[in-house]
Amino acid sequence: MRILITGGAGFIGSHLSERCIAAGHHVTVLDNLSTGSLDNLTTLLSNHPDRFHFVEGSVEDERLVKDLVEQHDRIYHLASVVGVKRVLAEPLVTVLEGLRGTDHILTAAALLERPTLIASTSEVYGRALDYLYPPEEGRLSEDSPLLLGSPDRHRWVYAITKLAKEAMAISYHRQRESPFVVVRFFNTVGPRQSPAYGMVIPNLVQAALSGRPLPVYGTGQQKRSFLHVADAVEAIYCLLIEPPRPPWGEIFNLGNPMEISIIELAKRIKALTNSDSPIEFIPYEVSYGKGFEDMQRRTPDIAKIQSWLGWQPQRTLEDILREVILYATSVSN
Ligand code: NAD
Repeated sequence: MRILITGGAGFIGSHLSERCIAAGHHVTVLDNLSTGSLDNLTTLLSNHPDRFHFVEGSVEDERLVKDLVEQHDRIYHLASVVGVKRVLAEPLVTVLEGLRGTDHILTAAALLERPTLIASTSEVYGRALDYLYPPEEGRLSEDSPLLLGSPDRHRWVYAITKLAKEAMAISYHRQRESPFVVVRFFNTVGPRQSPAYGMVIPNLVQAALSGRPLPVYGTGQQKRSFLHVADAVEAIYCLLIEPPRPPWGEIFNLGNPMEISIIELAKRIKALTNSDSPIEFIPYEVSYGKGFEDMQRRTPDIAKIQSWLGWQPQRTLEDILREVILYATSVSN
């Protein structure tokens, strides 16, 4: 099968590329290298020149997108502005590039009837768990209400853009039966995730290894849950390449429901790295500006994807932390 992965030079996309190549498929990555890197693709480029191709370009390039969609059987649309820091710095790129690029992908894929997976995010639930459920209770399922902030609180621009992408994909399916599926990624982590754009685990690990204070925003009591990238890739591979039944028009949560508070996470990373670094509490507004809103919990209900695919997260948080530490140590040497 010929598979096109937009954003394939990034964290999730490069792992997905490896999974598809290992299964014997042909893969083309389209990436503008804004947050991705060719370093993530070195092994693929040198070991599989016959089956792996890299195209440097943007999903905003309509002609290029149409040609590439035409030449491939399945499309993963992962390209996006990513990371709270980048979204706050570049809200206009986030919304314009996000919507135009997705429009180009879906227009071509609908016309050519190419099965396509759109990457969305748990951010679309906004603050639903904090406001709509008793404290410490509830998980977010695909039909939970969404409670987003207004776009003048800049962090919400990312979620609003992703929600609009979801609406495009689902509406194509509803009106034209286009074979599109949406996946809401919850925090996905593992080797190769860059610390540069505000991702919590690579940031804490990098601070611990370099002897800097471990930054914890707010009280540190906010809880998150983390899925290993290999588990995430297995699910999206199955969903688009070998689905047990057609998932078109469906939205799936993809994450791991096991929760941990950020302060506890920082302590575990300190212990696993034998770091003497202190933990430093930083008010949100110092790093993210006035009016920044964060959620206390964001825990997925993954029953739908589990029953659809017979999929289960295989790796623990301990596995994730050990691998990320090993990776960070290897790239810093
Ligand atoms: P990433 O930054 O590593 O990957 C995104 C890739 O898209 C990068 O390689 C970047 O260079 C590329 N890109 C950005 N704009 C582009 C454009 N206009 N044209 C072509 N390429 C472009 O991030 P990731 O964590 O691998 O995220 C992949 C997808 O999963 C994104 O859509 C993201 O929103 C979604 N997601 C990820 C997480 C997570 O925890 N990692 C959580 C929720 C959603």
